[in-house]
Amino acid sequence: MGFSLTAAQADAVLSALKQDYRVYAPKRFPKQGRYSDTDVVKYAEVDRFADIVWDVKSDYPAKEVITPIQQAIFYFTEDEYRASKAKEKPILLLARPCDINAQQIQAKIYAGNGGYEDLYYKRVRDLVKFAVMECNGGDDTCFCVSMGSNKTDDYALALKFSPDGVQVQVTDDAFARYFEGMPETGYTPAFVEENQLKVTVPDLEDKAVRLALKSHPMWKEFNSRCISCGACTVACSTCTCFTTRDVIYGDNPEVGERRRVTASCQIAGFDQMAGQKEFRSTAGDRMRYKVLHKFHDYKARFGDRHMCVGCGRCTHRCPELISISATVNKVSAAVEEIKASMANQ
Ligand code: SF4
Ligand code: SF4
Repeated sequence: MGFSLTAAQADAVLSALKQDYRVYAPKRFPKQGRYSDTDVVKYAEVDRFADIVWDVKSDYPAKEVITPIQQAIFYFTEDEYRASKAKEKPILLLARPCDINAQQIQAKIYAGNGGYEDLYYKRVRDLVKFAVMECNGGDDTCFCVSMGSNKTDDYALALKFSPDGVQVQVTDDAFARYFEGMPETGYTPAFVEENQLKVTVPDLEDKAVRLALKSHPMWKEFNSRCISCGACTVACSTCTCFTTRDVIYGDNPEVGERRRVTASCQIAGFDQMAGQKEFRSTAGDRMRYKVLHKFHDYKARFGDRHMCVGCGRCTHRCPELISISATVNKVSAAVEEIKASMANQ
């Protein structure tokens, strides 16, 4: 079923949907951007069709709807605690194909990791249905095609926006009633087939190559360039690391809440253990860990794909202009160099 709606018709459908769903989409927050007088585009509940930002990629990923940067996991007093309550209203999440594919990756980590299922992830994820936003090609940091995350069939609705309205494909019968009486059309979504940017994913199957790569001089460059701020991982569509923090409500230190808070493997001290031992004590070590985790380790553990959907948000947010695509291409070149040197020995 396909429909072609004007902006006014889209507003009417959105109002009806909001009776039954919390509808989240990229939304513009004026003057909250990184530089003065710039905006930030991030996920929030939308009330009007005009709130939906469809013509540029959001600065922050759709994952924030499911796993917010911080959330209360339980409340405590001196002698008891209570888990935080989940909202029950279903969620309709408007997202580009890369963000939807990122959720396949997050699901493996949160719900399929050693048989342990994360309650706080699952209780929100089970409420979510996706509306895929047809991507207009992304920007000069996107490489979804290289990562195979440019397409998805995990959606209840597909949407193609224009300044005048939106075309819709309904694939989930539960949504058909919201479009009754709307003008029909034969719309089906198109997916991006080529990005301006291409990334060569390194072949890291060989353990001897991986060990040689570990001490390659390319990582040292990040010691002076990366300031270990963690902005890249906060903006990443797939990163899942978190820590916990207690917030005390008043004078009594035994009454408060425990929050789950996003953490970053790029920040000094992330892997500090008892005795102050750190396994990755330089920015270069931490960058190597992040890149190899995303382009080898995750796939080695979970099997199907790499832990990067090529959304480019980490490149976009890095204050030091460190590009993940350039870094991965550099890793690929280093791997070829290592293999050639091994072959000549
Ligand atoms: S590593 Fe960068 S490009 Fe890859 S999913 Fe994360 S933010 Fe997107
Ligand atoms: S790569 Fe960039 S965003 Fe990430 S920690 Fe380093 S300086 Fe910060």
